[in-house]
Amino acid sequence: MVEITRIHAIEILDSRGNPTLLTKVVLSDESVGEAKVPSGASTGIHEAVELRDGGKRFGGKGVTRAVKNVNTTIAEAMISVNPLSQKAVDEALLGLDSSKGKGELGANAILSVSMATAAAAAKHLQMELFEYLRTKVLDRPVRYLQPVPMSNVINGGAHAGNELAIQEFMILPIGMKSFPEALRCVSEVYQTLGKGMIKKYGRMAKHVGDEGGYCGFGLKSTTDAFDAIIRAIEEVGYRPKKDVVLGIDAAASGFFENGKYHIDGEQLDPPELRDFYINLERSYPLSIVEDPFEEESFADFTDYTRRTKIQVITDDLTVSNPQIVKRAIDEKAGNALLLKVNQIGTVSEAIESAKLANSAGWSVVVSHRSGETSDTFISDLSVALSNGQIKTGAPARSDRVEKYNRLLEIYDLLGGECGYPSSEFRIAWRKY
Ligand code: PEP
Ligand code: MG
Repeated sequence: MVEITRIHAIEILDSRGNPTLLTKVVLSDESVGEAKVPSGASTGIHEAVELRDGGKRFGGKGVTRAVKNVNTTIAEAMISVNPLSQKAVDEALLGLDSSKGKGELGANAILSVSMATAAAAAKHLQMELFEYLRTKVLDRPVRYLQPVPMSNVINGGAHAGNELAIQEFMILPIGMKSFPEALRCVSEVYQTLGKGMIKKYGRMAKHVGDEGGYCGFGLKSTTDAFDAIIRAIEEVGYRPKKDVVLGIDAAASGFFENGKYHIDGEQLDPPELRDFYINLERSYPLSIVEDPFEEESFADFTDYTRRTKIQVITDDLTVSNPQIVKRAIDEKAGNALLLKVNQIGTVSEAIESAKLANSAGWSVVVSHRSGETSDTFISDLSVALSNGQIKTGAPARSDRVEKYNRLLEIYDLLGGECGYPSSEFRIAWRKY
């Protein structure tokens, strides 16, 4: 039987220039799997804990302690674990750290081994990672749906230095027939938006934020950003609503202070903010709102979800944690889950959260972090889950584009034999 023979981590940098881990898992047949761990900026307070060194080095953000934990404690314990059972791998990892948020060894350390072992197992079985995750980890049939890209073309909030409270302004090309066509649409709209903003607001407007979306200096409000995007969609020749719809990640914890939401020059209480979103839905083809309220306000999420027909995604509220996802489902605090593997720390727990969400009828959106690497695990995970939606930034900067390119590669590997959700993105996953 194949065994884990070596696990080795080093400290590398993420897309913001902060340290993170690169971990390699080597099996007895020389199959190697590797993983690079992402990191958020607008993190939920209940997220799994990244272990950072503190002190002066890298402003306290070094990960040498997490690296050491991989190379000593984790490596020694994992040698006897079957790498072909992701369940056994993740249970063994969880057994090594009994702290609440995996802060003892570091969720960043643990996740790197969880992901890299899955990649090594896929190599050993001579399978693509998405195939391995689909058939061996999820135990689902060979039938694939590619995701609608939810591409964040204008950045605000914690991801950009501008006046926009909303963190992410996304386009969803729902009127396309395949993922490659959808990505072409995203790229065309993105390029046209950049040119349009230079024309209207000057050259500074084209600078980009953490996720490659334009910063849009000069944009003063949420509707300014929407108007610029709608103009770009139309200029390229696509039809807003039919071909392309809009989404936002409000990441509302970022503009919540002393009980009020500070947005577009106003201070709103929760019902006023809810009506602000409902008015946006009436005026624009807005189909998605993520984290409409701050990260502990379950009741406000429930109230909005009850009153709207659009997709309400929970991110900071649920932090991909199965226990919190259960609570959100019970309280009907949304209808879609944002899934970030590093929020919870193992592949198995992330999959458990996705399954819980799906079994309650919720959609799942696989997501990157604002601090990323060239790792493309989430592209494979999204195709494996066939959940129908991925959030991985603008079609700019290789940390984002690598994920899109991997999805193009998967399309080719499957000979185009994979679905694309089109206007059915909210329910298409149910057939897979
Ligand atoms: C998000 O909030 O959805 C996001 C991707 O940002 P971050 O990684 O900073 O949490
Ligand atoms: Mg979010």
